[in-house]
Amino acid sequence: MDVALAITWLRAAAEAVTADADELTRLDSAIGDGDHGVNMRRGFTAVTAVLDATEFTGVGDVFVRAGTALISKVGGAAGPLYGSAFRAFGKTLPAGPEVGLADLVTALHAGLDAVTRLGGAAPGDKTLVDAYRPALTAFEEAVAGGAALAEAAAGAARAAGDGARATISMTARKGRASYLGDRSAGHQDPGATSTWLIFQALADVTAP
Ligand code: ADP
Ligand code: MG
Ligand code: MG
Repeated sequence: MDVALAITWLRAAAEAVTADADELTRLDSAIGDGDHGVNMRRGFTAVTAVLDATEFTGVGDVFVRAGTALISKVGGAAGPLYGSAFRAFGKTLPAGPEVGLADLVTALHAGLDAVTRLGGAAPGDKTLVDAYRPALTAFEEAVAGGAALAEAAAGAARAAGDGARATISMTARKGRASYLGDRSAGHQDPGATSTWLIFQALADVTAP
């Protein structure tokens, strides 16, 4: 992945969360406070502005700056969680204009660790972790099997989608949805859904 592809991915993610903002908000209205789409659109609009205004020489810097924008522009749980994930992802990548698949695997682990450190969610708690973790596993296994980026990203996106859909039957144990207890079951988690969109964006921009 080079600087241009990193920027293309984040722009595609921004387009996706903007296009699906109403759906993300609808999901959050069912089990949260109905602002996830608004939060994500605001945050990724800020990310796009940073991408427009900055000359990047390193891949990692793209994600660090994007993460900083998310943290500074988004109130609520998702801003700090995604912001910390992108910052950890970017900081873990080696300096320079291009990074390899193994670097991306390591950085994806760092991003998930940041989410876990900040939010304390375990798999099955009905959060974005339930999309991120299977996506990371699929990506890592694809890379271990010799897949190129496009194939690994496609596998990650599929796994994130399966993970997001699997949150429907879960009872939330973290975040606002946990206030509902058992009544949170039967609804897809908004954050897991936006995580799916972000992995799908990488699959879309790398597809042959
Ligand atoms: P808020 O709940 O503060 O309004 P958002 O609506 O933007 O923030 O984001 C809600 C999403 O954040 C949830 O759907 C869930 O996926 C994610 N989330 C909330 N708390 C946590 C946590 N502790 N760990 C991981 N993800 C979380
Ligand atoms: Mg919300
Ligand atoms: Mg909120």
